[in-house]
Amino acid sequence: MQCARDAAAVGQGFTRLKPPSHLDLKLPSPLEPLDDARAARRGVRILLKRDDLIHPDLPGNKWRKLAPNLAAAREQGYSTLLTFGGAYSNHLSATAAAGHYFGFDTVGVVRGEEHLPLNPVLAKATGFGMRLTYLDRTAYRAKQTPTVLDPLLAEFGRCYVLPEGGSNALAVRGCADPVAEMIEPFDTICCAVGTGGTLAGIASALEPGRRALGFAVLKGGGFLRADVAALQTAGYQRVTGNWSIETGFHTGGYARQSPELARFIADFEHEHGIRLNRVYEAKMMLGLMSLLERGRFAPGGTVVALLA
Ligand SMILES: *Cc1c(COP(=O)(O)O)cnc(C)c1O
Repeated sequence: MQCARDAAAVGQGFTRLKPPSHLDLKLPSPLEPLDDARAARRGVRILLKRDDLIHPDLPGNKWRKLAPNLAAAREQGYSTLLTFGGAYSNHLSATAAAGHYFGFDTVGVVRGEEHLPLNPVLAKATGFGMRLTYLDRTAYRAKQTPTVLDPLLAEFGRCYVLPEGGSNALAVRGCADPVAEMIEPFDTICCAVGTGGTLAGIASALEPGRRALGFAVLKGGGFLRADVAALQTAGYQRVTGNWSIETGFHTGGYARQSPELARFIADFEHEHGIRLNRVYEAKMMLGLMSLLERGRFAPGGTVVALLA
């Protein structure tokens, strides 16, 4: 079979492609203090690492994960990227955009049936030239098996295959970049946890004494601990003991929003002028503020919140 599934680990660093001159990536991403009364009362400094500002078409952690994979795909002579996602997957549209900007053809394998007209996420993906194909839920679950993957590769040709959500070994290492970019001292870095690739990467890159704290965005997120450990092993051949996952702030489940979360997002925007992503970072920030109120963070310390 002609495909590169999870690219093998290749030493500590990874190769980067030079972005085309017309692609203006805001890197390193900005680090901004959050002027928040609750944090001030507790004597805790909060900094926002603004990966959400890297590029409108390449949302933060999706870009961090794609960057090393694009270089690997180019190095290995692939001209097509193939990946998987649900009909509302940001990873699909980000892969489509990356393909457009870096000169790869892209194929998106979508879970479920085709619904026309396409929703905004899939319309954006096809706008960037992504070809879409659909798998029923049973086939989708078996998407990494040769039975399902081989016919796809027969149809679309030699493809660099990225997993659903984009989290493979190289992606985990790309996710360490926001940490590498920060020279400001801090104690804890927080992120939202979907597949866990971001948490795995940032935790792997932390200096001793620092901790990473993830907030699961889906219900029953306890399984994510094993996933993050597996992703760290894939990316770095070791599991670090410096991270944990809060599973109590999913507000009802993936893409679910409680009235409390809706109010929190509105208040945060009103106070800080930042519209938090309601599927991911809003839950992290709600959780961070709750833990802050409970005295979880030591006074005098600095907490970084990663907006991906
Ligand atoms: C995909 C995504 C996440 C989840 O990251 P994982 O590495 O899958 O845990 C968080 N925030 C945003 C904005 C995302 O698009």
